[in-house]
Amino acid sequence: FKVPEPINEPVLNYAPGSPEREKLQATLKELRGKEVDVPMYIGSDEVRTGNKVPMSPPHDHQHILGYFHEGDKSHVEQAINAALGAKEAWEMLEWEQRAAIFLKAADLLAGPYRAKINAATMLGQSKNAYQAEIDAACEIVDFLRFNVKYMTEIYSQQPPISGNGVWNRLEQRPLEGFIFALTPFNFTAIAGNLPTAPAMMGNTVVWKPAYTQIYSAQVLMEVFREAGVPDGVINLVFVDGPSAGEVVFNHPDFAGIHFTGSTGVFQTIWKTIGTNIHKYKSYPRIVGETGGKDFVIAHKSAHAKQVATGLSRGAFEFQGQKCSAASRAYIPSNIWDDVREFLLEDLKTFKMGGTEDFSNFINAVIDEKAFDKISSYITEAKNSDMAEIIAGGNFDKSKGYFIEPTVILTKDPMFKTMEEEIFGPVLTIYVYNAEHFEEALELVDKTSPYALTGAIFSQDRYAAALATKRLRNAAGNFYINDKPTGAVVGQQPFGGSRASGTNDKAGAMINMLRWVSPRTIKETF
Ligand code: GLU
Repeated sequence: FKVPEPINEPVLNYAPGSPEREKLQATLKELRGKEVDVPMYIGSDEVRTGNKVPMSPPHDHQHILGYFHEGDKSHVEQAINAALGAKEAWEMLEWEQRAAIFLKAADLLAGPYRAKINAATMLGQSKNAYQAEIDAACEIVDFLRFNVKYMTEIYSQQPPISGNGVWNRLEQRPLEGFIFALTPFNFTAIAGNLPTAPAMMGNTVVWKPAYTQIYSAQVLMEVFREAGVPDGVINLVFVDGPSAGEVVFNHPDFAGIHFTGSTGVFQTIWKTIGTNIHKYKSYPRIVGETGGKDFVIAHKSAHAKQVATGLSRGAFEFQGQKCSAASRAYIPSNIWDDVREFLLEDLKTFKMGGTEDFSNFINAVIDEKAFDKISSYITEAKNSDMAEIIAGGNFDKSKGYFIEPTVILTKDPMFKTMEEEIFGPVLTIYVYNAEHFEEALELVDKTSPYALTGAIFSQDRYAAALATKRLRNAAGNFYINDKPTGAVVGQQPFGGSRASGTNDKAGAMINMLRWVSPRTIKETF
């Protein structure tokens, strides 16, 4: 069997007057006009606990989009039992059948559900129409179609050598137990990919999304069910992290975790798994993408305008809430004045407001906790002698969690906002002596514990080559003359190392291989 070679889902542009724009606007209106009631999905049950938690647009926090039913530890136990119960039948299903289910889910998201998943992401996570389109519509569709391709390749691998009365086989088995998918708010596509990648390979899953993404998670679940994912294969629970962890990480059948979130949470999980390691039947697979403190470095030969555009897009798309967002920049003194002028000009064109108005490029940050954390970094920079705010710096949470795109200029390359992950619309710039490029490369490498994404801007081939070499461990996704965000499935496999994760590249064969356990069979005639 071969599946059709996938191509990336084309990104629609939502130009004024286009049919996709009209449909999306109508869907936004429709969703805003009703309150949804979101149950947990455990086995064949829709579980409503009555413990209803409200969901609101981050840019309009007094508006209620609906409620989800929060569960407790007992629901996690039920979800694990449902996953274990569904396992045998799911494993026995031919992989082509599993492929068909997920290809259908991709088609549903690309077609009839496109407006709904985009609108849910725009309202629930405050993503503008374009950012929603590349995430909730295109990237999840790409994840599903490309992962099917990688699955096909895994099952079609050449068998080991046989002969002389011996037949050797290599069987790719699903893992023994259940998989726990712990998913973030910032990409609907990642929330969809983390449970479906292991499920595709024949595993069954307990999926716990971030509370701030449940509004769009529910649409994904609707699609998975309509596509034919059997009951119990993906179980969706809404439980606080520590309670879920207590049940999952103490369970003998815990077989692996597929995680995207903060470095701190991932390290705690890893330690807990370590402490409990004797309780499990197998060594669990630990696959995680965590934080970032992503850099842009320009060489003195770089085009100032190209650098400025890379910074304004790389730092401020989706309010900087991407693990890949540019958050520290090293600009050579010779081009700084021009970069500054272009950057500030560009930022003036960024309108801020709700996602319903498509002309707003900047929307709200995800919740009050994020707002308070991000704004405290800005306040600290305002009060420091080592830093100057050269753009933005204002914030207001009266209607929504709005923070202006903020640029901090620092004289100290180790200033706090050069080192720590902020996960918001804050970019810190350090201007280095244009003749000291090698020292600047060294600073980039040693300033942060993370290694997710990074970019070099240079017209000088030797400088670009030097940066590529010296920074080889500083980023899992490295860009030459482009912003460090916006990796495309099938084109730039995504993931980093150091404190940024296990680098099991999302949407790649290496990731899919983590969800199987090979068995070698030798038969003698
Ligand atoms: N893959 C996304 C990008 O390249 C970032 C994913 C994340 O924020 O976790 O921008």
